[in-house]
Amino acid sequence: MDFKKYVRDIENFPKQGVGFKDITPLLKDPAAFKAASEELLRFIGDEKVDVVVGMESRGFFYGPVLALALNAGFVPVRKVGKLPHHKISHTYDLEYGTDTLEIHADAINTGDRVVIHDDVLATGGTAKATCQLIEALGGVVVQCNFLLELTTLRGASKLDGYVVNSLMRY
Ligand code: 5GP
Repeated sequence: MDFKKYVRDIENFPKQGVGFKDITPLLKDPAAFKAASEELLRFIGDEKVDVVVGMESRGFFYGPVLALALNAGFVPVRKVGKLPHHKISHTYDLEYGTDTLEIHADAINTGDRVVIHDDVLATGGTAKATCQLIEALGGVVVQCNFLLELTTLRGASKLDGYVVNSLMRY
């Protein structure tokens, strides 16, 4: 299937001068939505997976879908201040300023095998921070799984040493 047909380019979003890949048409089309989940699962193959971690917020679309299919649990990584229970944080640098992601401290057990999923891999900052949160709790990241990779931003090189798979590359 030509999945790129279901991705829309939005100019000047979320701010002036930025181009945004909108994946909501993919989610809305029943056949494309399902086929994409099957392809994302194919990347994981018969890898043993205990937990799928999805990053706020667009990692919450397919993250739980993958977890259900893999018989794994789903764990959200959220922006600062959103999680209600004991948590750990990781702060990372953006082009201008910093961002902080959080995960519940009891969400990952030592030795858990984890797939992280997000819609888009851009600079890799979000994914790298997520891997560091998981590893701080003793988890093992077996794959970083994305719908879409913006290759010019070289996020995969920030994830050097991890298995990185994306369904679409731009
Ligand atoms: P990174 O940390 O790799 O620079 O950025 C990835 C994060 O920003 C992901 O959580 C992703 O949802 C979001 N993101 C960055 N650019 C885009 C985009 O063009 N489209 C969408 N849907 N999300 C984006």
